[in-house]
Amino acid sequence: MDGKKLEYKGDEALKELQKLTLEADKVQEDLLKSILTRNKMTEYLQKHMTGVSMSDVHEFKKKVPVITYKDIYPYIKRIANGEESSVISGHPITEMLSSSGTSGGKPKLTPSIAEDLDRRTFVYNLIMPIMNQYVTGLDDGKAMFLYFVKAEMSTPCGLPARTVLTSYYKSKHFKLRSRDLYNDQTSPDEAILCDDSNQSMYCQLLAGLIHRQQVTRLGAVFASALLRSISFLERNWISLCNDIRTGQLNSMITDSGCRLAMSAMLKLADPRLADEIENICSRRSWKGIVCDLWPKAKYIEAVVTGSMSQYIPALEYYSRGKLPLVCTMYASSECYFGVNLKPLSDPANVSFTLLPNMCYYEFIPLGESETYMDEDEEISLDRLVELVQVKIGCYYELVVTTFSGLNRYRVGDVLQVNGFHNKTPQFRFICRRNVILSIDSDKTNEEDLHKSVMTAKRLLEPYNALLVEYTSYADTSSVPGHYVLYWEIKHCTPSVLDKVISPLGPKVLQDCCIAMEEDLDYVYRRCRTHDKSIGPLEIRVVKTGTFDSLMDLFIKQGASINQYKTPRCIKSDAALKLLNSNVKACFFSPRNPTWIPL
Ligand code: AMP
Repeated sequence: MDGKKLEYKGDEALKELQKLTLEADKVQEDLLKSILTRNKMTEYLQKHMTGVSMSDVHEFKKKVPVITYKDIYPYIKRIANGEESSVISGHPITEMLSSSGTSGGKPKLTPSIAEDLDRRTFVYNLIMPIMNQYVTGLDDGKAMFLYFVKAEMSTPCGLPARTVLTSYYKSKHFKLRSRDLYNDQTSPDEAILCDDSNQSMYCQLLAGLIHRQQVTRLGAVFASALLRSISFLERNWISLCNDIRTGQLNSMITDSGCRLAMSAMLKLADPRLADEIENICSRRSWKGIVCDLWPKAKYIEAVVTGSMSQYIPALEYYSRGKLPLVCTMYASSECYFGVNLKPLSDPANVSFTLLPNMCYYEFIPLGESETYMDEDEEISLDRLVELVQVKIGCYYELVVTTFSGLNRYRVGDVLQVNGFHNKTPQFRFICRRNVILSIDSDKTNEEDLHKSVMTAKRLLEPYNALLVEYTSYADTSSVPGHYVLYWEIKHCTPSVLDKVISPLGPKVLQDCCIAMEEDLDYVYRRCRTHDKSIGPLEIRVVKTGTFDSLMDLFIKQGASINQYKTPRCIKSDAALKLLNSNVKACFFSPRNPTWIPL
């Protein structure tokens, strides 16, 4: 790989990190040269870079446009349909990674080349050495990480299309991972790789319980997945205890890999362990359950930044606030970006040091706390700022150029610089551009939410009812979380107005709930139907005048009357309290929305 070594472990990995961050500008310049040497002859770059005799780097910077997914999609589609990878990449595209972002209702596909797995492994290899600097004794125990694969598809020409984590867990890099990288994991690979998420979860929790006295750290990739596992445990601990007590695996586990691995682990009946777990789990309150079940755990690892921060209170509840919540990295399907060099810092202060050897970074400066920039807005190239040029306190939108053929691609994330490690900036993750609702890997933007509301509200028309205003809220107070829509409905005929609660009858509003869900994007519907990580959508009908009161509240808090627009998603406690105190009736989606694997 251009002679650039990527295999480092332990202290060697930390030294490499030090070196990379000290020379961030040079590493970035060399990396861009290396990408251009490989990819210059691709159809995409040829289209943008030919004709002028300048150095490649200079020409790239002057001429290659900043793009979004819809600009590159026609090229990706051609490769997915069987055309040569050289359309965009100098190396063969080996798989398409489906991201949680969607375009036209379908997950975005990101091209990936074989050596991207080495780059991802490089990042994973940094995590343990960083953690070992702050927490001792991790290697003496086991890690209970609950990892899951998602259904895998293939493109028309047969390239695998799957999530980046599924790709990694199925790779030889994961299979051959060393103890330095993960120390011993409680979950057998067979359980991680099981397609059936219920069986996978059951077996991984069983393994975690069997090894409860050895677990020194635990977690999942996202906080939402960890909470789902705790809720699964709440529903299944009796069966899990029973398996431990009898040494017999529950017959609902039918996956042969899981059965083999778990039966070997259960070997002997262990009634004492089963009693201990039963005593803990049968308590009325599950506050602190994580500390009690895994008493030697030193921290919880999960993404708790960005939209996942909504889960911090629940994780603190289950750990009695005693275990640090550690967010180790910032990554995406397009590229793994950065690591948290101060893993024990409070989730609100987490920053990620971008690794200069992963991809070529550029940044679009944003106004103060500006988090929305139109996807279609053309970005003038002279606005772009390089990695080492960003300024502390400023907000930027991330743009990357990758080895696999994304050139000046807007990832969609808004970041804020809050420090430097050597020459390399550290960023706080602010938000996903224009995402207003997210429970799990779903990312619903204002436009999609609006579209689905517009579709659903048509069902009110035969009842002479009109939707006057709406807003939304991601309710994560129970697991799984769900979308809540506040609707203010005006009834147009006096005879209907006279009725007491909702003159429409529950069925119509339930139909509105499911109509909205059917209209939301592929990832939302997958989370609802397949992953079960999102609960049924809820419409809360509010009293007439509620949205006027909401406006009064925001104006009292400083919003301008002239420019006031109803926020399409509510984050403030006061606004939520106001809305909830005006709810007349609640309606839930009566069934799962349609979801068909692509
Ligand atoms: P995906 O496109 O499905 O690969 O998801 C990648 C996206 O997840 C990133 O672009 C971010 O928006 C989000 N993400 C990844 N890591 C973090 C993190 N540590 N904190 C907050 N958001 C993250």
